[in-house]
Amino acid sequence: MHIAQIGTGRVGRPTAYTIMNTKLVDTITVCDTKPGLASAFAEELRHVNASIGTNIEINSCDKDEQVAGADIILIAAGKARTPGVKMTRRDLAVENAKIVKTIAEATASRNPGAKYIVITNPVDAMGMVCKKYTKAEYVISTGTNLESLRFRAKIAQTFQVPVSQVQGWVGGEHGDLAIPLWSTTKVANVPIWEYSQKNRLPFSKTEIASYMKDVSKLIVDNIGATEFGPAASFRDIIRAIIEDTRQILSVAAPFKECSDTTFVGMPRPVGKTIEPSIYDALTAEEQKEIRDAAKAIRQTYEQALEKL
Ligand code: NAD
Repeated sequence: MHIAQIGTGRVGRPTAYTIMNTKLVDTITVCDTKPGLASAFAEELRHVNASIGTNIEINSCDKDEQVAGADIILIAAGKARTPGVKMTRRDLAVENAKIVKTIAEATASRNPGAKYIVITNPVDAMGMVCKKYTKAEYVISTGTNLESLRFRAKIAQTFQVPVSQVQGWVGGEHGDLAIPLWSTTKVANVPIWEYSQKNRLPFSKTEIASYMKDVSKLIVDNIGATEFGPAASFRDIIRAIIEDTRQILSVAAPFKECSDTTFVGMPRPVGKTIEPSIYDALTAEEQKEIRDAAKAIRQTYEQALEKL
C-alpha cells in the first residue's frame, strides 16, 4: 500500500506521521513544492521507522508530477486560514482551487486507479475540483468527519461520559454550514434526548453546535493551525479504506440527492468503494439543512471555477 502525502505543512506532516503509526502502509511518498521541506521531513519519517520498528519505504519530492504509482493520494497542499484574522474556509477557494487543479493534472496519469482524499480547504468544493481534473473514480474529501469528532468530544464533556459512549455525526459543509445530525446522536446507546431526560441532565444544543463549529478558530488563533485532531480524523478515513471496514464516517462525496457532482459531508460506510449516505434515515428538517449546505458548496465551487 503506497500513500502519497502532497503538501507537508502543518497538517500534512502529522497526518503522514499518524498514518505511519497504523503500520498499514509499505510506502509513503511526501511531496511539497517548498524547496527542501519534503526531503527534510522524509528524514524525520525514517527516524520514526527506526523507532516503531517498521521498514516503510519513504520517498520525497518537490514536484507534483514526481508522485507516481500511489494507491491513495492525500492532498493537503495550499493556503490555510491566517491566525487572528476573521475569515472563513470559503475565502481560500480561489487560490486553493488553482493548487488542487495543478496537483490533479500533474498526478492523474502517473497514478492510475489511485484513490484521492482531499484535505485542502474549502474541502468540499476542493474535492469537486479534484474530481473534475483527475477524472478519478474514487475522490472524496474529508468533509465533516473532523466536526463529528469535535461534536462527540463536546457531548462527552457535557454529560461527563467517556467519549467512547457517544455516537453521532455532523453533515453538511466543513465550515459555517456544518449540521449536527441530532437524530443520529446517542449517549450510552440511548438517543441523546432520552438520555438527557432520564438522567435529568439538560443540555444546550446551541452550545454544543457552537463548540463544534468554532473550536477550530480557537486552535488556529492560539497554536497557528489545527494539526493533531485533523491527522487523527484522516487516519480513521484511511484505515477504513485500506481495511475496507465500511465504518460510518462523515466524508464528502458526490451527493446524489442534490446533484451528481456536488460534494457534501454525510455519514456513509467508508471502504474500498464509495457508498450511498444515510440521508434517507435523517429527519426532514435535517435533510433540508443538508440540501441547503450542498447549494452553498456548489456556489463556492462555481465561483472558484470562474476564476481558474
Ligand atoms: P501549511 O501552509 O502549513 O502547508 C501547506 C503546504 O502546501 C505548504 O508547505 C506548501 O509549500 C504546500 N504546497 C503548496 N502548493 C503545493 C503543491 N502544488 N504541491 C505540493 N505542495 C504544495 O498549511 P496547513 O495548515 O498544513 O493546511 C493545509 C490545508 O489543509 C489548508 O487548506 C487548510 O485549511 C487545510 N486543512 C483542512 C482540514 C480538514 O479537516 N479538511 C484540517 C486542517 C487543515
